[in-house]
Amino acid sequence: MNYTRSSALFAQAEKVIPGGVNSPVRAFKAVGGTPIFIKEAKGAYLVDEDNNKYIDYINSWGPMILGHAYKPVVDAVVEKTKKGTSFGTPTEIETQIAELAVSMVPNIDMIRFVNSGTEACMSAVRLARGYTGKDKIIKFAGCYHGHSDSFLIQAGSGAVTFGAPNSPGVTQGTAKDTLLARYNDIENVKQIIEANKGEIACIILEPVAGNMGCIPPQNDFLKQLREVCDANDILLIFDEVMTGFRLAKGGAQELFNMKADIVCFGKVIGGGLPVGAFAANKEIMSHLAPLGPVYQAGTLSGNPLAMAAGLAMLQELNKDSEIYTRLEEKTAYLHNGIVEALTKNNITHTINRVGSMISVHFDEGAVVDFETAAKGNNETFKKFFHGMLDNGVYIAPSAFETWFITDALSYEDLDKTIAAVDAVAKTL
Ligand code: PMP
Repeated sequence: MNYTRSSALFAQAEKVIPGGVNSPVRAFKAVGGTPIFIKEAKGAYLVDEDNNKYIDYINSWGPMILGHAYKPVVDAVVEKTKKGTSFGTPTEIETQIAELAVSMVPNIDMIRFVNSGTEACMSAVRLARGYTGKDKIIKFAGCYHGHSDSFLIQAGSGAVTFGAPNSPGVTQGTAKDTLLARYNDIENVKQIIEANKGEIACIILEPVAGNMGCIPPQNDFLKQLREVCDANDILLIFDEVMTGFRLAKGGAQELFNMKADIVCFGKVIGGGLPVGAFAANKEIMSHLAPLGPVYQAGTLSGNPLAMAAGLAMLQELNKDSEIYTRLEEKTAYLHNGIVEALTKNNITHTINRVGSMISVHFDEGAVVDFETAAKGNNETFKKFFHGMLDNGVYIAPSAFETWFITDALSYEDLDKTIAAVDAVAKTL
């Protein structure tokens, strides 16, 4: 493929934007080469500035569950734009999307909209601290909850891709209140709680981890967390920024029949515009300003264009009773095809999948936590990534990311992807 224009644009961008990107994972630093500049996208396809076309498995890192430039979402945004782009006052559409979200997701009565997943998680933790009157939080190694200070402690996603899971700039004072546990290890969580009795406000986790590749919760891990939280007056926060409206209408809570105390959203809920949200029952949410003392605000929060995109997206998902089954079937089909192609070519691998989240680890053995995820062969991944790109398939430029399956993918697209995996596997 020819990447002339992308390379030139990147050289230009590097002069005025750190690393040429506005979010580190977009850089190809972990895999080598220069990032591709995309000029447009439709359905399952991306088109870059050199007119190369790719089947897309990043999907804006999750939001485009129905494919790019999905007509009802685009139309809703275009119509709203004509009426003004921001007022800084309440608008009817905020209540409409809030009502719909509350009706789709279990265990929540109220929801507050923000502008990103980071803001959602940061605000959820502040609310948990304000509500419980306690300071410490437990997070899991390899989970990513955005780039707010408390979370950049053994963080996943770009933070681990670039070898900076603990960021400079996060003070000791902040870091000491974030206690680190091993994903899928309830005994470890219990030990930490025991050693910090009465001090822990909340446990935050991705109910299906997606930022160290895809890692499902094992056995009764989520249920055990619920029990341990109840026994110790700790709030359980599900960071459903990836899983919300993706694994089921009601997200991971619905899929696993679980109850979280606070739920965070991002990605799908904004239909591709900058939206995050956090939600809980009325009692907890009543602690939030202006009802209560826990402060949280935003000039552009609940922005009409963002709400229009999000509402259109949720309406589409809500009315389509087959969507999650279709996504599951497509992802299972891809899963089987990849296993077959890699096995046939003697490539060591482990594939994890939950619903429409899937990831390929180039290592043997179960991948259940950060330690096992980090064992994957990064050299193989780099070759795999570039090979797939050359074959017209765009996956995330890091071994620590999940592939997101969209309903816009046809079985022909999936077959092309599997054929690409087979072709690339021969070269590994
Ligand atoms: N939580 C999870 C689980 C995420 O995957 C992400 C982003 N990938 C975030 C939080 C942060 O969201 P944002 O990038 O919108 O701030």
